[in-house]
Amino acid sequence: MVCLNMFIISRLFEYTVFVKQKKINCTSSEQLPENSVVNFMKYKIEIERTGCIACGACYTTDSTHFEPDDQGKSTVVGGETDEKTSSGVFDDDNIESAQEAEDSCPVSIILVTEL
Ligand code: SF4
Repeated sequence: MVCLNMFIISRLFEYTVFVKQKKINCTSSEQLPENSVVNFMKYKIEIERTGCIACGACYTTDSTHFEPDDQGKSTVVGGETDEKTSSGVFDDDNIESAQEAEDSCPVSIILVTEL
């Protein structure tokens, strides 16, 4: 019974690595070290731009997801932006930097949500 459980766990782990390799289009095992686990997740970043004081904390903290407009107010890189809001959905392993930027905002107008 113990051997069967170990076999099942080992197969599940191999499958997890396989799926993650497929998700980032790896064609060679050399691109992803053996036994590595990469945390990809889908998440949404929203900025309530009407409250932005253009302090720059978010895009200084995380220039991957945030950038200033011509007035210094923050926008989501590659997202949909208008005068009131900016938002974008991402599917990568960089949610932590987005959350750091969220925490850095002095007026708490950034929302990062896991989808
Ligand atoms: S940290 Fe907040 S207030 Fe400062 S630029 Fe970014 S969104 Fe605007």
